[in-house]
Amino acid sequence: MRLTSAEPFWLVKNGILNSYPSLTEDIETNIVIIGAGITGSLIAHQCIADGYKTVIVDKREVCHGSTSATTSMLQYEIDKPLFQLIDMIGEKGAVLSYKACFDSIDQLQKISKSIKSSCGFTKKESLYFASRKKDVPWLKQEFEARKEHGFSVKWLESEIIHKKYQLENSHGGILSDQGGSIDAFQLAHDLLHYNHKKGLQIYDKTDVVKIEYRNKDVLVHTEFEKTIKAKKIIFCNGFESTEIIPEKIVNLLSTYAIVGEQNEDDQSHFQNTLFWNTADPYNYMRTTDDNRFLIGGEDEDFVNADKRDGLLKKKAGKLEKTMSKLFPNYKFRVDFGWAGTFGETNDGLPYIGKHPDFKNAYFVLGFGGNGITFSVIGMEMVSTMLKGKTHKLSEFFKFGR
Ligand SMILES: Cc1cc2nc3c(=O)[nH]c(=O)nc-3n(C[C@H](O)[C@H](O)[C@H](O)COP(=O)(O)OP(=O)(O)OC[C@H]3O[C@@H](n4cnc5c(N)ncnc54)[C@H](O)[C@@H]3O)c2cc1C
Repeated sequence: MRLTSAEPFWLVKNGILNSYPSLTEDIETNIVIIGAGITGSLIAHQCIADGYKTVIVDKREVCHGSTSATTSMLQYEIDKPLFQLIDMIGEKGAVLSYKACFDSIDQLQKISKSIKSSCGFTKKESLYFASRKKDVPWLKQEFEARKEHGFSVKWLESEIIHKKYQLENSHGGILSDQGGSIDAFQLAHDLLHYNHKKGLQIYDKTDVVKIEYRNKDVLVHTEFEKTIKAKKIIFCNGFESTEIIPEKIVNLLSTYAIVGEQNEDDQSHFQNTLFWNTADPYNYMRTTDDNRFLIGGEDEDFVNADKRDGLLKKKAGKLEKTMSKLFPNYKFRVDFGWAGTFGETNDGLPYIGKHPDFKNAYFVLGFGGNGITFSVIGMEMVSTMLKGKTHKLSEFFKFGR
């Protein structure tokens, strides 16, 4: 069987789990959330827990944005290494950001358990390995920085990596014991379903076409000429936020991922580990809970969807080759391949907070390889900000920093 699909694996695997109505009347609420992906679902979960009357609206089926395409590796390691982030923004902000990502993985585990999600949350180690000899000195510097700031890490030489994971062509790497993986599409659906029963109003296939930012509230106009009046609006609209934010905050890319066929071979040597490397662009790899292996990467510096999808076959072939070079003993055959939009900020950090151009509005934009952990951090930040308080991470995640 050689079934290759341009649809993300999780979309095909799970199908449409729950569907919601589109907006057919004018409504009023405390909070309106734009975007029902993993970020919007988590933020809605927090808003409902905090007792706000909350509405969430999405122009697609819920969870059909990046949340359906993500490879859902949960890492506390930000795209910008800790030692570089310290140089860029100072020790306090860099260490706080890394620690918040670290804690968010445990928090996600708790959330997933508390709503009895079938997203397959699995705690994993994370191996960040040097794919080129010249990367070893800075990777060791990163190892020292992490150790110095209290992160539990080990340096593994290439022979040990080879023996432990049957991984070839590494030049050593940092092993962290904090990491995890989920099916983000399933988790976001489960969160929406759980909170829907608690009063969350969900409208899908409802495009938000215009917003009036007024002194005491916002008026959201949708494509069906129905409105949502809300005291506050929270934007969880992912990469499409770049269409409304005037300044350039993120560099958008295209990224590619492939998932192999189910494999009955023993996977115990790597199934509890996330792998990523120092290649440029980097590769990221993990197993799924139904015994498949996935690998992503091959990023391109453009977002044009036609051009991006036109390269899918070539990129899938390249990823397959990388996979066979790294794990030559593993029988890998592509079952699914897809492409998605991805974004990187200069410092690897998200944008969470208010923007001076938008009254009564908050943004939770978790860009980068840690998008999901940033969305979890956004829950506490939004909760704090809605109470009129300042969160300790606000100054590091703010617009115009
Ligand atoms: C191939 C790939 C691999 C990735 N791997 C990882 C990984 O391993 N780990 C990780 O943490 N992150 C990873 N990411 C990033 C991660 O997928 C994103 O951070 C995450 O999915 C963002 O979720 P979101 O809810 O913010 O955005 P989305 O899921 O895109 O949701 C935004 C929603 O807003 C809606 N929307 C936009 N505009 C409007 C409007 N005008 N009206 C109504 N609705 C609107 C959209 O329809 C969409 O559903 C990866 C991304 C890709 C593409």
